[in-house]
Amino acid sequence: MRLVSALICAFAVAAPAAADDYARTRHPIVLVHGMFGFDRAFGQYDYFLGIPHALEAGGATVYLADLPTANSTTVRGEELLLRLDRLAAATGAQRFNLIAHSQGALDARYVASVRPDLVASVTSIGGPNRGTPVADASVAMTDPSTWLGRLQQRLFDAFASVLELVSSNPQPVDVRAGMLSLTTTAVAQFNALHPQGVPVDACGEGEAVVDGVHYYAFGGTAIATNLVDPTDLMTSVGNLSFAGADNDGQVGRCSSHLGDVIRDNYPWNHWDEVNQVAGLRGWFTPDPVAVYRAHANRLKSAGL
Ligand code: CA
Repeated sequence: MRLVSALICAFAVAAPAAADDYARTRHPIVLVHGMFGFDRAFGQYDYFLGIPHALEAGGATVYLADLPTANSTTVRGEELLLRLDRLAAATGAQRFNLIAHSQGALDARYVASVRPDLVASVTSIGGPNRGTPVADASVAMTDPSTWLGRLQQRLFDAFASVLELVSSNPQPVDVRAGMLSLTTTAVAQFNALHPQGVPVDACGEGEAVVDGVHYYAFGGTAIATNLVDPTDLMTSVGNLSFAGADNDGQVGRCSSHLGDVIRDNYPWNHWDEVNQVAGLRGWFTPDPVAVYRAHANRLKSAGL
């Protein structure tokens, strides 16, 4: 009974209401949120805003992973693995298409590396697949040997705790542990252990299929896209860490590459990539919901 209730907390199981079969993938889709993310806030407001419903309307079966909003990739990756195992046991699904934003891409890659039997595909959206200088800066900001560092660490953790409270399964937060696993150095070490799909050239494409797992990537290169979106402040500050290189305000254009790079320069910032906040993005930019739907169709066409 305890296992069943944990499973229900872990995933907001979809209620299919298919209008067509455009997105009807063979394997279920699991949407994996990034740092400062959640599955469905208050059981109502999706991190991947409007996307689960659109995919379900296209015939897909969709689950939302609720991982720790701020913790190391190892902790989050192990949590994702545990939940996929439970989901497979409960539903009979054998493999999953993991569509993951930001740090979620590393979590998904971790699972695909250690348990490729569970994973049909990994799609990285704005994933820091070579780390990010924003994490390098954040680690420096939260240096526990200074009072200012300790204060900033507590402020970050307080913010993360609020986001964790609104998710379906509150878990402990540790923003510094999360940032420590997203630095350029830490992700280089991660890539040595889990190299699947990572491009050999710094800005090339990676192997499209490894151990039977298909790898895809999308990314953006806009910073401030909407005057009234408060997250544009975050991307504007993040941009300062990139020394002029293309980025989405949190992750560099080349770092977002993994496997088959579908497109790395959408005119979106890091939060536009998941249709946040409240769908606010630049005028005349592609609708993220339509892009996710088209990607589900790509997975379907690939037999995934
Ligand atoms: Ca936005």
